[in-house]
Amino acid sequence: MGYKQLTLKVPTGYDDNLLRKKIASKTGLKKFKFTIERKSLDARNKKNIHWEMKLLVQADALKQDEAPKKPHLKIPYKKRNKRVVVVGSGPAGFFAAFVLQQAGFKTTLVERGTDVEKRTEGIWQFETTGVFNPLSNYAFGEGGAGTFSDGKLTSRSKRISAEKAFIFSSYVAAGAPPEIEYMTHPHLGSDNLKIIVKNLRKQFENLGGSFLFETTMTGLKIRQTNVVEVETNRGSLEADYVFVAPGHSAYDTYRMLIKNGIGFHAKNFAIGSRMEHNQEIINIAQWGVPSLPGVKAAEYRLTSKGNGQQNIYSFCMCPGGVIVPATAVKEANIVNGMSRYMRNENFANAALVAAFNPIEMIKPGVSALEILDWMENLEHTFYQFSNQYKAPYCSVQDFIRGKITKGYETSSYPMGIEQAPLWEMLPSKTAQAMRAGLKDFIKKMHGFGTGNVIGLESKTSAPIQVDREPDGRCTGFDNLYVVGEGSGYAGGIVSSAADGIKAAMKVVEMA
Ligand SMILES: Cc1cc2nc3c(=O)[nH]c(=O)nc-3n(C[C@H](O)[C@H](O)[C@H](O)COP(=O)(O)OP(=O)(O)OC[C@H]3O[C@@H](n4cnc5c(N)ncnc54)[C@H](O)[C@@H]3O)c2cc1C
Repeated sequence: MGYKQLTLKVPTGYDDNLLRKKIASKTGLKKFKFTIERKSLDARNKKNIHWEMKLLVQADALKQDEAPKKPHLKIPYKKRNKRVVVVGSGPAGFFAAFVLQQAGFKTTLVERGTDVEKRTEGIWQFETTGVFNPLSNYAFGEGGAGTFSDGKLTSRSKRISAEKAFIFSSYVAAGAPPEIEYMTHPHLGSDNLKIIVKNLRKQFENLGGSFLFETTMTGLKIRQTNVVEVETNRGSLEADYVFVAPGHSAYDTYRMLIKNGIGFHAKNFAIGSRMEHNQEIINIAQWGVPSLPGVKAAEYRLTSKGNGQQNIYSFCMCPGGVIVPATAVKEANIVNGMSRYMRNENFANAALVAAFNPIEMIKPGVSALEILDWMENLEHTFYQFSNQYKAPYCSVQDFIRGKITKGYETSSYPMGIEQAPLWEMLPSKTAQAMRAGLKDFIKKMHGFGTGNVIGLESKTSAPIQVDREPDGRCTGFDNLYVVGEGSGYAGGIVSSAADGIKAAMKVVEMA
């Protein structure tokens, strides 16, 4: 059996028959098998939008006798009588725990929120009654912020190929569509994620790992440079190694870590709002037609230098998705976006954010604690707008003009939107930069000016970063690792999971 790599252009509405015909005509082969290695949509020329596919063809008649090697994460197993406590079951914490358990550690995963079933119920209750549940929300609970997310699995880092291969193959083994391993913009959707995180938990438990839900880390017992116990609301857990993967929404956890001597410092981040458009307008802008066979919904990615002070960009675009109330605490109001696998809702949403340097925007020498206070205050201001979870909004045009929007618009946001002077509610420099960015985006994308600007988007990445060594240990500690988005070194599902895996592998190599 030999192999040949092949690149083909195929129409978006192709089927397997057409693909086989194209392979046969390009290679002259009659009997062959093939796998897709890469698939990306080329929409640069609206008259010729097509899939660009990289295939690996296998046939007896082919000469090359070895398939190209794929990245692979090797996890060496041995019986190790060491206990690891991992705090946080988001992508970073879960994948760190999964690797450590596979390597032979006794791993306990501690999660303050509920399991995914109760979490689904809690979110539904919140959206329908307005009663916030601190254990079951968009940020906390099984799978962390990654579960009720959009499930885009994009990451730009080139240094995580083995970790990425492990993450993707684990997702597929837990029920994800196999296409995530070859799509250039892989996407799971929150409906798939709910099933995947539960199946992953079962695999972890079958390997001997323990999962403790509704268990909050409240403190750490530290002896010199080691954490010896993780204190929780349900008692203490002894540990030889401690991984903390709290995400960036658990301000109480950040404060507890800082109080215990774990160093954090300021880092740049971004804040702004969500944009929402009718999805058909985005499809027409990107494709020239309202729909394309074989493609779900059009995406966009926009950047602008804004007013020359702060860069403006779209982020976490959710085609055919919904805007959701993503707060982790009762008296805060923030929005985020998600979609289901089919991406077939009527709206497209994306964050529209301005770069934020806290040293320039808050004060020189601002501490990590002061940044948390500042963020909490901003998120609370948006809550005070309605003393509930209604999202303040205005149209793109009115944001630019600084005028309250008249009339009522529809939105995918489930808790209601209300006209507000968003440009006054956001920090003024952020609003000025967004205004310049919006003008630019209207020029760049046909129909962009028809959208709405909705709520506060303050969670594109962590606002602070932990002090840590190149091997991932927290500075000043021998056995403590703060990983994932909450560490300030990662952002998004794949990069957070990879950060957890990398730290776990350091411990596997060492112990
Ligand atoms: C609505 C939404 C959509 C998103 N869409 C995407 C997307 O499409 N693609 C993408 O790449 N990223 C997306 N993200 C971001 C992504 O979810 C995060 O980057 C990722 O989940 C971070 O992983 P993490 O493990 O570091 O932290 P998290 O996923 O935030 O998990 C942290 C966990 O720690 C737990 N925890 C915190 N403190 C404690 C404590 N003291 N004790 C016990 N447990 C604790 C929390 O309950 C939580 O479960 C989205 C986020 C949201 C909210």
